[in-house]
Amino acid sequence: MADNPMLKFVAVGQDYPEKRAAEERNEDFAEISRKFAVAKAEEQSSRCSQCGVPYCSTHCPLHNHIPDWLRLTAEGRLREAYELSNATSSMPEICGRICPQDRLCEGNCVIEFSGHGAVTIGSVEKFITDTAWEQGWIEPLVPVADRSGQSVGIIGAGPAGLTTAEYLRKRGYDVHVYDRHDRAGGLLTYGIPGFKLEKDVVMRRVQRLKDGGIVFHEGFEVGRDATLEQLRAKHDALLIATGVYKARDIKAPGVGASGVVKALDYLIASNRKGFGDAVPDFDSGALDAAGKDVVVIGGGDTAMDCVRTAVRQGATSVKCLYRRDRENMPGSQREVANAEEEGVEFVWLSAPEAFDGEGAVSGVHVAKMRLGQPDASGRRAPEPDPQGGYRLNATLVIKALGFEPEELPKMFGAPELSVTRWGTLRVDHKTMQTSLEGVFAAGDIVRGASLVVWAIRDGRDVAERMHGFLKAKAKAVPKQKVAA
Ligand code: FAD
Ligand code: SF4
Ligand code: SF4
Repeated sequence: MADNPMLKFVAVGQDYPEKRAAEERNEDFAEISRKFAVAKAEEQSSRCSQCGVPYCSTHCPLHNHIPDWLRLTAEGRLREAYELSNATSSMPEICGRICPQDRLCEGNCVIEFSGHGAVTIGSVEKFITDTAWEQGWIEPLVPVADRSGQSVGIIGAGPAGLTTAEYLRKRGYDVHVYDRHDRAGGLLTYGIPGFKLEKDVVMRRVQRLKDGGIVFHEGFEVGRDATLEQLRAKHDALLIATGVYKARDIKAPGVGASGVVKALDYLIASNRKGFGDAVPDFDSGALDAAGKDVVVIGGGDTAMDCVRTAVRQGATSVKCLYRRDRENMPGSQREVANAEEEGVEFVWLSAPEAFDGEGAVSGVHVAKMRLGQPDASGRRAPEPDPQGGYRLNATLVIKALGFEPEELPKMFGAPELSVTRWGTLRVDHKTMQTSLEGVFAAGDIVRGASLVVWAIRDGRDVAERMHGFLKAKAKAVPKQKVAA
């Protein structure tokens, strides 16, 4: 009997792709991990025990066929592994890079529970599709049927919008994507820094969609360049996938000083520089951390991206101020570890009380916090510690306290567009349709700030719902014409 290529988790230890040394990676915005060599990817895949009920897959929002593509990889059948991985995801190599695997697939791998260390699923997923791009196995996007009589408008070119665009184009619809930015990709392009996700990885995906006949209207802001109603009149169905962009603010004296900036303004400027754009607010020094004492306020992934960007821009010092402790922070522990290796100092149980400086910020007054009873989210609520506070020098303060939805009904001139009390779009969860007939919604604008993999999942689901709606509409129209 041939040797079983799988279940090697006892003999073969867990191994992630090697990270570049912190001193080296702090010098550039390239991804921090080197690539798996083919033999390493095959070896790591062979650790999978091929569970009958694969919890890895259950906890992957896309329910990827993980054990199957691991087995194919272990057997050296990489092209088949790619085809299977690609069957459930519109961007597997992106998820492999930036999903918080420790909370999703890998965190639920049985081998992790048995103490051997999870199968390195994300790294293998990235390897498979990167190899497919290198080998020319990624096929062009070709519509399978001609439904060119019907057209779809998609507002927002983030992962939710792009996924929907791909699946509907494949089904033969005319697809138009509108985005207010000059490049597609949403937060994949302008939010997430290159050291987590290199931009050519995103741009080659976008180019494939353009080559497949999807029409992109870049620099087109709905609300400014058209109302929702005008787009509704133009298309047979619409998708709103605009994400969440209203930054939460801090109420504290001095917060209006120059040098106290919003996280996304800061990250967008940095990402634009990576593309080689002229960015006046960066070029003037306002959004450049070089030579500054930087304090980032927040404990989520956006804060982690800001601190690590500041290090790479050549900040003199970088501190992350967070009101809870390490165990109770929302950001990924993997990212905290990366940031610490790169020289970031975390100041736990600390909240800003005031900012000082004549016009330009020069320091932050910090209140010490302690943890009280758990709040509604189950995390222990921070409260001021009577032991008092202290002051930190700061010449650039970055506010990274999370995002809320913008006021879409007002922005879009569509007061009848129903929203929840959190400002997210209200959808019928069966049809994924908003309160307006033929207008669907997906991604962060429905869920609130979430993850790329959930945006992809929503994009996949809403494409199916929109296809159903459009088919029914196509059948209904001739009947109406006959009746008329
Ligand atoms: P978005 O990606 O936000 O895309 C929405 C698009 O709509 C944007 O391109 C925007 O320009 C466009 N738009 C908005 N309004 C209009 C309008 N009126 N007219 C035209 N276009 C409009 N998730 C992870 O899984 N892993 C990570 O490591 C990670 N890191 C992150 C780091 C940062 C800094 C941030 C902010 C988020 C991060 N996330 C991460 C979350 C993830 O990026 C989002 O959950 C995901 O991008 C949501 O996808 P989306 O398609 O719903 O919206
Ligand atoms: Fe894991 Fe994300 Fe890939 Fe699913 S999509 S297998 S959660 S890395
Ligand atoms: Fe393989 Fe782990 Fe998934 Fe089981 S849970 S199928 S061992 S990757």
